[in-house]
Amino acid sequence: MKVVLFDIDGTLVKAGGAGARALNHAVEEMTGYKDACDHVQLQGATDKTNFENAYKVGAGRKPTKKQLETLTRKYVARLPVEVEISVKAKKYSKVKGVEKLLARLEGRAGVMVGLGTGNLKDGAFIKLEPSGLMRHFSFGGYGCDSHHRAEVLKKAVQRAARLSGSAIKEREVFVIGDTHRDVEAAKEAGYHSGVVLDGFGDEDAIMRSNPELMTKDFSDLKPWLIWLGLERDPRGVRRGTYICPDSPIEHAHYGSTGMDLRDIETGIEQLREAKRKATGRP
Ligand SMILES: [Mg+2]
Repeated sequence: MKVVLFDIDGTLVKAGGAGARALNHAVEEMTGYKDACDHVQLQGATDKTNFENAYKVGAGRKPTKKQLETLTRKYVARLPVEVEISVKAKKYSKVKGVEKLLARLEGRAGVMVGLGTGNLKDGAFIKLEPSGLMRHFSFGGYGCDSHHRAEVLKKAVQRAARLSGSAIKEREVFVIGDTHRDVEAAKEAGYHSGVVLDGFGDEDAIMRSNPELMTKDFSDLKPWLIWLGLERDPRGVRRGTYICPDSPIEHAHYGSTGMDLRDIETGIEQLREAKRKATGRP
């Protein structure tokens, strides 16, 4: 059984800042402080962590358990309004090609598609609602499961195992995100990691986190289907080998699956240049 876990923000959809505005609204209602999220790095963290940090900006101290519950309730109550504002302003969009990828995975024997997101479960559904993508996901791991993203992913896999009635091996799990935090969490849990660069991640940080696959978006599905082991590599690279992103040696034995398609997309020279920029090394 293969389990494919999608992050939401920047990977499936871009909600035009709806989450940050809803959180700002909730913090302001409780503390009077405006635009608290301007001072919080929201991307790639779980909602719980973001809520605590934003509250701290507004109140000058961490929220109590009760205050965090109130903040969460206010956030969830406000989120549909803010999502609707983004939709009306045409600032809500699906990440290019993701619908096509989900359609290719749909109903495929031996493949389960789920969410692996820092969003609270309620928040996840609200954010996805206008996209119509929710129907592709029958399970997930959410920000309400843990502060820790690797734990969120593991929770999703546990649910997949329960649903399918079969044990799932770590190497059968593929995590797709848009920030280095998605990659780090996947690696920590022992799962595969792929990233789209067109989301909210910082490209240098993504390069350093070294995911197995990086592409701009999902407009070309081929790399993704090869990485998932659902299509053959056109170059005939054996499964079990792939191209080491910082090595001149092609086909270096680097990991257990997939390949780094960055060199196909941009050429090995450009890859090296990006790597030089990211690491500061000549
Ligand atoms: Mg994201």
